[in-house]
Amino acid sequence: MRADVLVVGAGLAGLHVAIELGRRGHEVVLVDRRRDLGAAIRTTGIFVRKTLDDYALPDDLLGPPIRRVVLYPPSLRRPVALESDRDEYRVGDMAGLYRHLVAEATTAGVEVVLGTRYVGRAGADAVLDGPGGVRQVRATYVVGADGARSRVAADLGLDRNERMLVGAEEVFAIESHAGPPTFHCVVDPRLAPGYLAWVVDDGRHAHVGVAGYAARYPDGMRAALSRFASGLGELAPLVAVGEVERRGGPIPVGGVLRRIASPCGLLVGDAAGAVSPLTAGGLDPCLRLSDRAVDVLDDALRTGSSDPLRHYDGAPLRAKFRGRLTMRRGLAAVRTSALAEAAFVGLRTAPGRAAATKVLFGDRSFPGQVAAD
Ligand SMILES: Cc1cc2nc3c(=O)[nH]c(=O)nc-3n(C[C@H](O)[C@H](O)[C@H](O)COP(=O)(O)OP(=O)(O)OC[C@H]3O[C@@H](n4cnc5c(N)ncnc54)[C@H](O)[C@@H]3O)c2cc1C
Repeated sequence: MRADVLVVGAGLAGLHVAIELGRRGHEVVLVDRRRDLGAAIRTTGIFVRKTLDDYALPDDLLGPPIRRVVLYPPSLRRPVALESDRDEYRVGDMAGLYRHLVAEATTAGVEVVLGTRYVGRAGADAVLDGPGGVRQVRATYVVGADGARSRVAADLGLDRNERMLVGAEEVFAIESHAGPPTFHCVVDPRLAPGYLAWVVDDGRHAHVGVAGYAARYPDGMRAALSRFASGLGELAPLVAVGEVERRGGPIPVGGVLRRIASPCGLLVGDAAGAVSPLTAGGLDPCLRLSDRAVDVLDDALRTGSSDPLRHYDGAPLRAKFRGRLTMRRGLAAVRTSALAEAAFVGLRTAPGRAAATKVLFGDRSFPGQVAAD
């Protein structure tokens, strides 16, 4: 098999790169080890306003807008409720979105090969293992869109994520209720050491999850999730309808990696560490970095030189994340319930609410071509 570009991984980053390169007339092969992209989903799928403004996601694959966030200390007492006058978040039907994007990729001329794992390199070729057995692809460039623990990054000799959270959630349809769509966040180091526990209730579906540093869960992440899910009580009195879907996975929070390109290819999405270190949101960053990757690869393929890949450099992007990395260290330092309760004393003041509003409803986005930081 031959191709201009082999994209490894059909998450949002890989699909976006493949579609855009296909639309520009390049020969693209997109592989994913998953047979069905609607299964084994790893994300809650909360899209922020900036993404919804700048990218055309199908309206029928997005849940109702959310304008309300409520932050809780470990005691769940005296929470801080923040309301925006704009639609801030919408939760994607991720199975539907991935399938929709596969159809778009096929229309763009991309060869989509599912149920097929990238297993390494043999000389200049990439080696794939799928239902038809092992085969090799000679691609001018390889794109590592293969997630936080990227095999492509290792094979191209690029940087790899070291600092990660792990997250898990349960997703289910809910009985309709009177309350407004709300994003509930609990800061409790026993449930979510270094990050948050959450309930996203958009009136149609609920996502109940926890994320934190794996080594810091006193009795493991799954136990923390079931403790949280069984004790929601008044925080979010939800009535589940039908099956519960389980999701989970690692979240890189060390910032964009420095070396994300070589003359043979480049990294996008989680593989490149393109996740906000503070909020752990990766859907907006993966789209914006993928746009940049598409321009660089298009340029390289048109000029017949790998030179443009030298400008695909994570170091200047990383520098823009300094503030968010500092705030991540602050959140990671909240190791006891007493400290979390004390932090809420500050959060309840006018400056505390203003700072939280800026993080949760602000206009900042991943530094890219579309939006500058
Ligand atoms: C529990 C959880 C909740 C989250 N919630 C949100 C949220 O609400 N909003 C937000 O903005 N961000 C969220 N994130 C982060 C966000 O989901 C990710 O940053 C984003 O999905 C990354 O997309 P990606 O395409 O880079 O990687 P992925 O979606 O991980 O895709 C990687 C793909 O590569 C494939 N793959 C891996 N290895 C191979 C191989 N060797 N061969 C072939 N295929 C391979 C995988 O099967 C997968 O399909 C969350 C993360 C987690 C873990």
